[in-house]
Amino acid sequence: MKFPLTGISSVAIHTAGHDNADFSHLTPIYATSTFTFDSAQQGMERFAGSDKTKIYSRWGNPTFTVAEETIAALEAFGLYNDDGSRLQLKALLHASGQAAMATLFFSNLCAGDTILSHFSLYGGTHELMHKVLAETGIKTTIVDMRDLNKVKEALRNDPSIKLVHIETPANPTIKCVDIEEVALLAKQFNCIVSVDNTFATPYLQQPFRYKVDFVFHSTTKFLNGHGTAIGGVLIGKDIPLMRTKIWKWHALLGGNSNPFDAFLLTQGLKTLELRMERHCHNAMEVAGFLEQHPAIEKVNYNGLSSHPDYAVSAKQMRHPGALMSFEVKGGLEAGKRFIDKLQMCVRAVSLGTLDTLVSHPASMSHFGLKPEERLQYDITDGLIRMSVGIENLADILNDLDQALS
Ligand SMILES: *Cc1c(COP(=O)(O)O)cnc(C)c1O
Repeated sequence: MKFPLTGISSVAIHTAGHDNADFSHLTPIYATSTFTFDSAQQGMERFAGSDKTKIYSRWGNPTFTVAEETIAALEAFGLYNDDGSRLQLKALLHASGQAAMATLFFSNLCAGDTILSHFSLYGGTHELMHKVLAETGIKTTIVDMRDLNKVKEALRNDPSIKLVHIETPANPTIKCVDIEEVALLAKQFNCIVSVDNTFATPYLQQPFRYKVDFVFHSTTKFLNGHGTAIGGVLIGKDIPLMRTKIWKWHALLGGNSNPFDAFLLTQGLKTLELRMERHCHNAMEVAGFLEQHPAIEKVNYNGLSSHPDYAVSAKQMRHPGALMSFEVKGGLEAGKRFIDKLQMCVRAVSLGTLDTLVSHPASMSHFGLKPEERLQYDITDGLIRMSVGIENLADILNDLDQALS
């Protein structure tokens, strides 16, 4: 284009999918496992080239490409390299967030290496580290990264730390880590830095601004936005590395997406800004309402000045996001009663869908743990986790109010 696009919606809608056959407006669902060659020569050229998207769909597929190019453009939007050129990124779409996470760790680490990460990671990330990676000889050290001295001490004392993994904001109390400060420390010790940006999305937070190496998303959540498909994406700024080793490990581990889910994702991405504006506006209002409510003990929302990470969140995020948790007075029974009385809000785990999702970790996702174990993860008996949707605000407030009465 002759002029730079000025906003995220234009980038989300116009970046990719222009070279479609048969004048198709949208890139079709390329439901094909393989692609044909006109000649041996053409086959040879496609294998030798850097574009591996028209050979075999485990290696890439034009429907995946639309989602990959759009997500890369969103994460790079408005960012520049030190020499003043525009930041370029490469994204690889995966079958799930977990598959993208497996590619991230296995392509960057080997036996004897250590990951440095923090408390309250997504459950699947925590288990991948402590079960799967541990058996392959890749260790994980957990510190409270909101204390930079602890990060420095860990990096100084353990030269096997090769990768620093940050997830911010994080469940269930919406803790935030200062990406810039942790990345600066990690770089002093020559570590790779990866950020799980699932809760924030590139509209709210762009970790590449702080010179991190990789950004990860479960696209299942806000990027798809409609709860229609599982997916994950790994984005990197070292493009030759993304095209070689990272792509190779992704293809060999078999974590490829599929054309239908990729198509659903590309449609969801177009409304990211509109949806996030509404999600965040509703969330701020809901948090304020709950904080004043006599049946509520405590609200954990990074947009409230009472939240311990309010300042870090304000520094690195456009808006505080759509996730929060709160404690209902009266413990386990009160939490269950509240959940059961909801009329419109939906009882489900997951997050980032159009509808408001509410879960009660003590009776659902973390039911199998003993209460003292749950407390290690800040999960008290009355704690409710909520992903605020884009419904009309008054209806969300009315539902919460009647369920709390
Ligand atoms: C959901 C989620 C994941 C895992 O993604 P899947 O798509 O379920 O495999 C990882 N990190 C965060 C923060 C998540 O919310």
